[in-house]
Amino acid sequence: MKIEWIAPIGKDRYIIKTGEWRYQKPERNQEKCKKCGTCLIYCPTGSVYIEDDEYRTDYEFCKGCGICASECRADAIIMVEEVRE
Ligand code: SF4
Ligand code: SF4
Repeated sequence: MKIEWIAPIGKDRYIIKTGEWRYQKPERNQEKCKKCGTCLIYCPTGSVYIEDDEYRTDYEFCKGCGICASECRADAIIMVEEVRE
């Protein structure tokens, strides 16, 4: 499922690419992942989704807050520096 964040600013509405805010990003170790769904529930931007029976991150909207890494009890997610070209 693709989610687009739409924010009202003044009288108009804008799609906000919250992924552009990120200075760090989550990386998920699929071998450690227990598929509990906690990261999906806690992600404030709805950027965690399931595909091919794996939990994944939509980096277009992940803002790099680190909540998923903090809440993962399996230590399957680490935050790494975002490198932009
Ligand atoms: S919280 Fe951790 S173990 Fe649970 S689905 Fe997310 S990455 Fe996997
Ligand atoms: S870092 Fe924050 S925004 Fe990105 S997937 Fe994790 S909880 Fe969601």
